Amino acid sequence: MGGELLSNLPWLKPLLRTEFYKQCECESLKQCSFFCRDCMGSAFCEDCLYHPDKHVHHQSLRVYKSSSRTGLRVHSIRSLMDVSDIQPYTCNSSKLVYINRKGRKGHGNHINGRKGEKCEVCGYELQLLTSKFCSIECKVSSEIEVMEEKKEEDFVPISISTRRLIHVDPNSFRKRSRKGVPQRSPFL
Ligand SMILES: [Zn+2]
Ligand SMILES: [Zn+2]
Ligand SMILES: [Zn+2]
Repeated sequence: MGGELLSNLPWLKPLLRTEFYKQCECESLKQCSFFCRDCMGSAFCEDCLYHPDKHVHHQSLRVYKSSSRTGLRVHSIRSLMDVSDIQPYTCNSSKLVYINRKGRKGHGNHINGRKGEKCEVCGYELQLLTSKFCSIECKVSSEIEVMEEKKEEDFVPISISTRRLIHVDPNSFRKRSRKGVPQRSPFL
């Protein structure tokens, strides 16, 4: 059971790769704090959000910044995906979940940390015992790892055995299996 998040929410992977709070590509010189779930392109500013030819009637997400990290408001993402196992942070009296992980991959420590104290993917310390992940990125990458493991198990043995079956010529196999002098075709 993996990969539901990514297959149900095609915009999730592009969101994780998007760089926010840089200057917008338009003339406004404003910072990019919006992401469009329909266009799945780069981040954009407030002016672009209300621009009549850009994202009108599209589903946009507002991205917030807290302690130099970007996050989404829990109440706006909650209806789109389950974030109950992601550590929430309070920022200006609203709750945020961070988009990207803070800890480094491979830094994770499943042995020393008691369960629930550290992010299951990157090992970043969590404040809530009920949280499993520090960020949306870590929750998504825990799903991707499951998917990749499955793929390898399924594909490798099957592709080798089918290729062998295809390349065996049934005629040559029958001839060779007869005992004695190898028979040639009478026409040669
Ligand atoms: Zn703009
Ligand atoms: Zn759009
Ligand atoms: Zn993490």
